[in-house]
Amino acid sequence: MKGLEWGVFYNKFGVGKYDPKQLEARIVDLMEDEDVTKNSGVYEYLLDNDERHLSIRAFTPKMARMAYERQKGICQMCNRYFDIDGMQADHITPWSKGSKTALENCKMLCADCNRRKSNL
Ligand SMILES: [Zn+2]
Repeated sequence: MKGLEWGVFYNKFGVGKYDPKQLEARIVDLMEDEDVTKNSGVYEYLLDNDERHLSIRAFTPKMARMAYERQKGICQMCNRYFDIDGMQADHITPWSKGSKTALENCKMLCADCNRRKSNL
């Protein structure tokens, strides 16, 4: 655990509230998760649950293309047809709910729907 301020960390978590062993296990899990591209964000993530700290791996262009073909260019929210350039890849089940950045969890939304969704 190089460079980690354990004191600050535990202060924020509240002493005695969390089992250090459990916490350690979660840290290891997150660090070993291939979708987490920013390991230094793990501690911040555990503090505020904001997955932006982790820079979750994005879908590759190939995954996006395959998902696009699978749904035949139809946006999964508004059911309209779009060119692939007008669409964005999105997780079907959010990563925070235990899903992975993988083709089977990839859906394509049009830019408008994707924007609207993230503003909810
Ligand atoms: Zn749409």
